[in-house]
Amino acid sequence: MHLLIMGPPGAGKGTQASRIGGHYSIPAISTGDMFRAMKDSDTPLAKQVQEIMTSGAYVPDEVTNAVVADRLVADDCADGFLLDGYPRTLDQVSFLDGVLKEADCELDAVISLSVDADELVARLTRRGATDGRADDTPEAIRTRQQVYADQTAPLLDVYRERGLLVEVDGLGDIDDVTRRLFAALDQRAGDGALVASS
Ligand code: ADP
Repeated sequence: MHLLIMGPPGAGKGTQASRIGGHYSIPAISTGDMFRAMKDSDTPLAKQVQEIMTSGAYVPDEVTNAVVADRLVADDCADGFLLDGYPRTLDQVSFLDGVLKEADCELDAVISLSVDADELVARLTRRGATDGRADDTPEAIRTRQQVYADQTAPLLDVYRERGLLVEVDGLGDIDDVTRRLFAALDQRAGDGALVASS
């Protein structure tokens, strides 16, 4: 099972990704988490990544692609994976296409979690106050929303045209969103477009 989960910052991708990963017994791989984990290493690249993330901009494609390529060859990806927060640019889409082709596999579905802009900003602002994530400041939140709209939202059309997009309303209770999400994936499985869920 090879899945992607997409959605604007604050849509709740990470929470849902770990549930989906658990359900299908595949690793949920978050590029954001991988980059945040770099904060403990004292290399010039790690420092550069931290600065970029704090501003709310995207890490350069060549860095992101290299990190993902490295991760996807790990043993736990043999039966599939769920990518959370990757790809986010057209260049990353092409790169992932190449990685999948090389491994002789295809994406099964691309989940799109949608939440309206006001709710997103409210969620991130709340999280900023409680978790202290460096990119949950008002300025970085604005940048992240803008960068998402400019660079990542167009990817939804790409996957929609490929017939892979599964759109899920991300508003409301976390468990309700999970139920909606599995219902949408199951329906796709019922349509014969997805390997049946276990
Ligand atoms: P969110 O989607 O809530 O903003 P993430 O944890 O997914 O949070 O990502 C945090 C940051 O990590 C992004 O704002 C960006 O700087 C960096 N990042 C994560 N994934 C990518 C990617 N695929 N390409 C470029 N930068 C990325």
